[in-house]
Amino acid sequence: MVMTARELDPRVQAFLGGGPKRLLIDGAFVEASSGKTFATHNPATGERLAEVAEGDAADIDKAVQAARRAFDGGPWSRITPAERSKLLWRLADLIEERSELFAQLETLDNGKPLTVARRDDVGGTIDYFRYYAGWPTKIEGATVPVSVADTFAYTLRQPVGVCGQIVPWNYPLMMAAWKVAPALAAGCTVVLKPAEQTPLSALVLGELCLEAGIPAGVVNVVTGYGETAGAALAAHPKVDKIAFTGSSEVGRLILRAASQSNLKKVSLELGGKSPNIVFADADLDAAREGAAAGIFYNMGQDCTAGSRVFVEGRVYDEVAQFIADQAAKLTVGPGLDEATEIGPLVSQDQLDKVLGYIQLGPTEGARVLSGGGRADGPDLARGFFVKPTVLADARNEMRIAQEEIFGPVVSVIPFRDVEDVIRQGNDIAYGLGAGIWTQNLAKAHKVAAAIKAGTVWVNTYGATDPALPFGGFKESGHGREMGFEAIHLYTEVKSVWVNLGES
Ligand code: NAP
Ligand code: MG
Repeated sequence: MVMTARELDPRVQAFLGGGPKRLLIDGAFVEASSGKTFATHNPATGERLAEVAEGDAADIDKAVQAARRAFDGGPWSRITPAERSKLLWRLADLIEERSELFAQLETLDNGKPLTVARRDDVGGTIDYFRYYAGWPTKIEGATVPVSVADTFAYTLRQPVGVCGQIVPWNYPLMMAAWKVAPALAAGCTVVLKPAEQTPLSALVLGELCLEAGIPAGVVNVVTGYGETAGAALAAHPKVDKIAFTGSSEVGRLILRAASQSNLKKVSLELGGKSPNIVFADADLDAAREGAAAGIFYNMGQDCTAGSRVFVEGRVYDEVAQFIADQAAKLTVGPGLDEATEIGPLVSQDQLDKVLGYIQLGPTEGARVLSGGGRADGPDLARGFFVKPTVLADARNEMRIAQEEIFGPVVSVIPFRDVEDVIRQGNDIAYGLGAGIWTQNLAKAHKVAAAIKAGTVWVNTYGATDPALPFGGFKESGHGREMGFEAIHLYTEVKSVWVNLGES
């Protein structure tokens, strides 16, 4: 049963009913300087959910100045590591108290199934803040034995400064958490720009930062468009670092903006077209389920989606057919229905893009084994629903196999042997994730080492953990998030020389 508006959490009703959402700048919620707003929609129905302030360059400038003041001599420059720990832990507690508010907002704004939003998006966000709450007291430099007489040398690891953080719409809250938590743990201040399609949960996160006691100006949230607000943040001369997740196309624009302004640091988490490789000697029950889950999770709107499934020749037909049968069984519906496994895509644009690739498949010679178009049904007519689609007899050189579709569409590609699948798997611009299904230990390690990807899963797919680095080879990005690697992204190392001699 689809939850009705009246059955929503009262805090969701209050939030959505409370007039246009405002920007968080310097500890206060304010209108955009221009006074403009834009609408955010529910992708399950196409209905308008809320009006949101349309921040632009003027608002970005105010937010950056606030973040600068908080960092340069403001309260955040004097806070102790232990106090930062406590604030991050308190923030995690507040998110946990508002779990249902966040889960319902994510489902309303992005479309994803509520059961998944609760478990993964909100649950993962809480875990993530708690993990980074442990780091502030453990960010150490080193004493270094330089070969110079009468010298004491050491390193300090210091926060990089004001960080612009630009995030996408596929995991709105979690992507914000992946960026904000390590930045605060490292002692940085933040200007966060959520995606125009999904701005709501970031604003509630900002409110909770204040409630947790994080001083004004440390976390600022500017909603608005990428071409205006996002571009102004990337080009701002007072921003020390930009952290971006999204398309490779915009990643290139961010690098250009950084190089043409103050050479700010840039970390990029971009797209993928990840190979999920099924060898004939795998536990086939697990492998074929893993292949299906690896693409259909989050409607395929996932940078590590296993969107190229490679299957060894002699089990190809059986595995392709299983994935197709699995796809046909998935329940497509509004995310607010707890029976839903596949919600709508995020927007009309994304629907058009994905349908375009579904039509392209057969013209390139692929065969539609299941799905193949919009999902229909009484509940689905107004939303952006697509049937989970399996394209068999695909070849790695086809556009459906080379380009990131970012929808529930998988290309199933046959391969001959280990050498063949390593060559095909790596024959792609991206390098974010890879899956390997085999019971042969030597083969698993050999392929894991040979595939150019930031994360390799053996006999499992898609797991992440705050402690394990995440990021991409090749065009999938620069730098690694999670674990101590993310603390690296948000700190600078300073080498200090001290002359111990008689002057
Ligand atoms: P996108 O344009 O790269 O959006 C990501 C973020 O960048 C959004 O906050 C966006 O703002 C902002 N942005 C856009 N143009 C910008 C600019 N010139 N300067 C600074 N920031 C800018 O991604 P999309 O258009 O939403 O999706 C397009 C494709 O990107 C998808 O189909 C998918 O293939 C890929 N994608 C990948 C990931 C990933 O996790 N790697 C996530 C999302 C999308 P607004 O959207 O608010 O305008
Ligand atoms: Mg966009």
